[in-house]
Amino acid sequence: MVNTYNHTLTWSTTRITLLEYCNKKYYFNYYPHALRSLNQEVWLTALLLKNLKSIDMRVGEKTHHLLSDYLRALKKWMQDEAAIQEHKDRIIDEMRKEFEISKTRDYAAYDRDRKFGLSEHYYWENIDDKLEEAIKKALNNLEVFLESDRNEKVQHYFKNAKSVYVENPREKDFDGMKVNLYSIPELRPVNVMAAPDFGVVIADNKYLILDRKTGQEKMDTDGISEQLKIYALKLLLKGNVDIANVDIEAYEIYLPSLHQFGGKIEKDDIDNIIQKLKEDVEFQKQFLVDNDIIKNQPLASTSFPRTKSEKKCAGCTFRKVCEDLKNFE
Ligand code: SF4
Repeated sequence: MVNTYNHTLTWSTTRITLLEYCNKKYYFNYYPHALRSLNQEVWLTALLLKNLKSIDMRVGEKTHHLLSDYLRALKKWMQDEAAIQEHKDRIIDEMRKEFEISKTRDYAAYDRDRKFGLSEHYYWENIDDKLEEAIKKALNNLEVFLESDRNEKVQHYFKNAKSVYVENPREKDFDGMKVNLYSIPELRPVNVMAAPDFGVVIADNKYLILDRKTGQEKMDTDGISEQLKIYALKLLLKGNVDIANVDIEAYEIYLPSLHQFGGKIEKDDIDNIIQKLKEDVEFQKQFLVDNDIIKNQPLASTSFPRTKSEKKCAGCTFRKVCEDLKNFE
């Protein structure tokens, strides 16, 4: 489904992390259209690079698809070995085909539905030996899940909970993802999209939220992540209920370790995330013409400084366009 939302300022944890990581990278990722009037080639390159992913990112994406394919099918009927193998075969087939297409570097044929190019191929890296390893990692993430008690728990929820939500990352539901911030005037025009991987209404006013992660695990194990707090806030705003009257537990689960981080959402968590949203909007405003979050037009590219960290640049998808842009700044 195409996201038809207007272009007012968006907030997400990824977005703020990127802004803090490198202002220029944030500009390329969220405002590539602003380059159009500067130079067409730079603009098109930025658009292309924005849609490429590294092979490690692809493993995360395919893991999400695989787990979601399995869970959505399991919600309807039991999945035997043969059915599970079908889910795996689909992913294996997709990953192999997409890898071969990515290798051709035929970006002229690129369109919205072909966001499968790998950034390594764009930069002429030979990663042929990484494909099978990547497939193995994605499949292993499902195996680990199947062998854990989490697999039994989800079956229990499907049978006994009031309702269970399983995200379909293959077909994003942008309407369903939008957080309704109408009751918070300062944040009313801000777009915040959020959908956890798995949500359970266990009983009246009792909820469980689960999000799976495949990236680097957190070092600090305390507290609830901002992402989980956003999911909880969304739930409260949607139902127009106070946190004092509901019981929400939320966890991030890392694959393949199955380590889990999170806990019960308290009033402080909700107050903190609302405050964080407000502060982040103020921070992002500084990079907008007239500080206007509704028009959401970025300042000139020169107002987005480059990081000084060579290490960050070495692995950056935008390094080509970042260099090219220097000729116009
Ligand atoms: S190459 Fe470096 S400076 Fe340029 S966008 Fe990437 S991280 Fe930022």
